[in-house]
Amino acid sequence: MIITTKKDRNDLLESIAENKSFFLIGCSECATLCGTGGEPELEDMQQFLEGAGKEVTGTFRAKTGCQVLGTKVELKPFKEQLEKTDCIIVMSCGAGTQAAVEIFPDKAVYPANDSAFLGNMTRFQMFDERCSLCGECIIDKTGGICPLTNCPKGLLNGPCGGTNNGNCEVSEDIKCCWVRIYERMKKIDQLDKMDEHILEPKHWSKAARPRVHSAKEDKKKK
Ligand code: SF4
Ligand code: SF4
Repeated sequence: MIITTKKDRNDLLESIAENKSFFLIGCSECATLCGTGGEPELEDMQQFLEGAGKEVTGTFRAKTGCQVLGTKVELKPFKEQLEKTDCIIVMSCGAGTQAAVEIFPDKAVYPANDSAFLGNMTRFQMFDERCSLCGECIIDKTGGICPLTNCPKGLLNGPCGGTNNGNCEVSEDIKCCWVRIYERMKKIDQLDKMDEHILEPKHWSKAARPRVHSAKEDKKKK
């Protein structure tokens, strides 16, 4: 899931200073789980904007805010409120905000959140980064743990000389990810693979931006 954090409200007020009326779009997926774009946050934002003397013409929580076509269809019943607003505030991730830019080519669109990283929810509203979207996954060779993301140095072959009693030299609060990888490989009886696979430098060309992907083309792969 995409982890989002709320933008500073004063920064938001500065961005929207020239606008008077707003339609708010949240998201039922990641932003709801992060507490940045669910119903309570939409309500809270509405109160905040009204308190700042702005008009809120409507609020809506998309099923999946980054899905352009689906969100466009879901917004149809809000035609009247959307006509009355001079801009949109999106309370999801950057992809959700840019979906709104495509849906509303003639209106200003503002993000209420910052998109932080791709991660997992480990406890209620606690998130850990798990994947850096490198475009070529190598965790089949590292026991399912991503060294690119979990090692602060992104070392593909580790540990480095700084590992200290199993902890990372960058922060005592985190266990060295290469120690975790070793322990995991041992547990699943794949330690021999660690000798076999000295990982080659990554092909960063696979992460060249902007990236596009066709799921239809992917289906044709054997
Ligand atoms: S190797 Fe790449 S794709 Fe796989 S988890 Fe790590 S960053 Fe993500
Ligand atoms: S101690 Fe481990 S996790 Fe920390 S930088 Fe070195 S290899 Fe990476």
